Amino acid sequence: MTTGNINVSVENIFPLIKKFLYSDHEIFLRELISNATDATLKLKHLTNIGEAKGVEYGNPLIEVKIDKEGKKLHILDQGVGMTAEEVQKYINEVAFSGAEEFLEKYKDSAKDSGIIGHFGLGFYSAFMVADKVEIITKSYLDAPAAHWTCDGSPQYTLEEADRKERGTEIILHINGESEEFLEESRIRELLVKYNKFMPVPIKFGTREETKTSGEGEEAKEEKVTVDNIINNPEPAWTRQPADLKDEDYKSFYRELYPMQFEEPLFHIHLNVDYPFHLTGILYFPKLSNDLNLQKDKIQLYQNQVFVTDNVEGIVPEFLTMLRGVIDSPDIPLNVSRSYLQADSNVKKISNYITRKVADKLKSLFNENREEFEKKWDDIKVVIEYGMLSEDKFFEKAEKFALYPTVDGEYFTFDELQERLKEKQTDKDNKLVILYASDKEAQHPYITEAKERGYDVLLLDSPIVSHLMQKLETSKDNISFARVDADSLDNLIKKDEEQVSKLNDDEKEELKKELEEVIPTEKFTVQLEALDSNASPFVITQPEFMRRMKEMSATGGGMFGMGNMPEMYNLVVNTNHELVGKILSTKTKAKKERLIKQSLDLARLSQGLLKGEELTNFVKRSYDLIK
Ligand code: ADP
Ligand code: MG
Repeated sequence: MTTGNINVSVENIFPLIKKFLYSDHEIFLRELISNATDATLKLKHLTNIGEAKGVEYGNPLIEVKIDKEGKKLHILDQGVGMTAEEVQKYINEVAFSGAEEFLEKYKDSAKDSGIIGHFGLGFYSAFMVADKVEIITKSYLDAPAAHWTCDGSPQYTLEEADRKERGTEIILHINGESEEFLEESRIRELLVKYNKFMPVPIKFGTREETKTSGEGEEAKEEKVTVDNIINNPEPAWTRQPADLKDEDYKSFYRELYPMQFEEPLFHIHLNVDYPFHLTGILYFPKLSNDLNLQKDKIQLYQNQVFVTDNVEGIVPEFLTMLRGVIDSPDIPLNVSRSYLQADSNVKKISNYITRKVADKLKSLFNENREEFEKKWDDIKVVIEYGMLSEDKFFEKAEKFALYPTVDGEYFTFDELQERLKEKQTDKDNKLVILYASDKEAQHPYITEAKERGYDVLLLDSPIVSHLMQKLETSKDNISFARVDADSLDNLIKKDEEQVSKLNDDEKEELKKELEEVIPTEKFTVQLEALDSNASPFVITQPEFMRRMKEMSATGGGMFGMGNMPEMYNLVVNTNHELVGKILSTKTKAKKERLIKQSLDLARLSQGLLKGEELTNFVKRSYDLIK
C-alpha cells in the first residue's frame, strides 16, 4: 500500500471545489458519467485501431447504483480502466489532464471518437457531495487492479485490489448535507437532465417489460425484467440528415419536449466541421407575440453531454426563441457571458447559425411559397426581430420577409414597391406604405383607403414599429403611415389641390364655432378641403408621435416619449355636405348638437368613445331619430 499527498500545486482544490461550485453540486454526476463514457469510448477507439490486443469491446454499459443503507453511490463502467501508475498520474497529479494526453497521443485518429474531458474540475467534483471517495479500477492492460481511497484531505491511499473485470467503479460515501443524492428520484432526474443523449448506454436499475412470444392462439405474454437504460445513445442530431425522415425529426422533438403537444413548423439540421465543430437541430415552434415567454428552450451539449439551456451569447438573441439542440466541443464553458461574446469561435458559431437559419428560410420560401405564407404569422416575430438586430440577417431576409395586406396577400418588399409605386407615390416622389395594426379597430380607415385604390398592409407584431423605422432609414424614399395617421390626402400628397367649397371667411367662422364645442385640450381642429366623399370628421394621430410612443413601450425609440399625453387631430372636411350644413345652421342649440354628434361619430370610429360620453351619445342619437 502507498500513501501520499496529492500534488501540492492543487492542494487547495478541495476548498475551491466546495466554494465555487457550491450552487451546482449536482454536476458531480455529469462529471463522473462523462469520465466513464470517456473511458468506454477510449476502449472502443483502441480496439478499433487494433491497439488493445485480445480485448473484446462487446456492448459495454455504464451503471449507476444507490446503496441507501450504506449511504453510497456507485458509478461503474467497463472502459479502459487504470493501472496503479495511471491512478497515480491522472488522479493524484490532478493538474494533469489525462484526456489531454490521450488526445495528444492519438491526435489524428481520436478526433472523431467523441472523447470528452475539459469540463473543468472533473473527477474531483465528487468531493462536493462525498466525504470519502474510492476508485476500484482494473486496466485493459495486463496489470493488477488498484484501489484508491481519499477522504477529502490531500491524503490518499493506493493499494492493490482483486477486481478481475476490466473497468472502473467509483464509490462515493455521500456526506450528510448531500443525502438527496441517495434518492432514486433525484438521481433519475439528474440522469435525464444531463445524460439523456450520452453515447454509452446508462443503466439505472431495472424495469418490467411485457414480452409476447409465439403467434396467434399460441401467443403468450410474460413479464420480463430488463435493464432500465435511461439514455438514447444515438440522438437524431448525431446522425446524418440523409438518414433521417421528417417523422424522425418530429419524434426527436417530442423526445426533447415531452410536455409540448404542438408540432414544430420546421427544422434546421446544423452540421459543420470547419473551422469549428458543431452539430444540432433547431426547430421553429409556433410563436406567439409574447417575446419573453419563449426563451431558454434551446439545449446546449458538448459531445452529447448536457451543459445548459441558457444559450445567451452563443446563439444570436433573436434565435433564442427557437427550440432544439446545439452540440459543440468548441464552446468554452465556465466563463462569463461577456467573455463568451468576445470569443472568436463563439462569434463564428453565432454567425454560422444565423446564416443557416436564413438559408433555410430562403429555401422554404423558394420551394413552396404558399406553405411559407401560411406559416408566416407563426414565425414572423423571429424574422422581424432578426432583421432588427442582425444586419447580415436583414440583408438575407430581403428575399423572404413578407408584408401581408389586410386581405391576406403576401408580398416581399420588392414586390410591394413594384405594386404600390403607381398609386402610392406622392408628389415628392416618396412611396407611402399604408398599414393597419388592427383590422377590426381601424376598419373605417382601411375601407376609405381601399376605396381610393390603395393597398393597406396588416402589420401587427410587437416590434414592427422598430422595423418600419429601420426600413425607412435603410431604403430610399419610402415611408410607412398607419391609415389613421392623417387624412388620406395628407398621407399621400398628390399635386392636384382640392378646391375648397368654403372661402376663407367661412373657414374662419367654422373653426371658431367648432372650437367652442370641441374640447381643444384633446383635439387639434384641422380644416381640410378633401374629396367630398371622404368622411366629414376624422380623428387621426400623427404617425411620428404614435410610433415613438410604441417604440418606447417596447424598448428603444425616443426617451420619455412613453409619457407624452395622447394627442389627436380632428380633421374636418370642409367639402363635405354635413360640414356645409353645420355652418349654415342658424339655431345655436341645433348647431351644437350637430357638432357633438359628428365628433362622437368620429370618436366611435377610432374606438375612443367611452364612459359618460358614450352614454350621452346614445341618448342624443335616440333624440335625433325619434
Ligand atoms: P478530465 O476528464 O478532464 O481528464 P477528470 O478530473 O475528470 O479530468 O479525470 C482525470 C483523469 O482520470 C481522466 O483524464 C482519466 O485519465 C482518469 N479517469 C477518471 N475517471 C476514469 C474512469 N472511469 N476510467 C478510466 N480513467 C478515468
Ligand atoms: Mg472528466
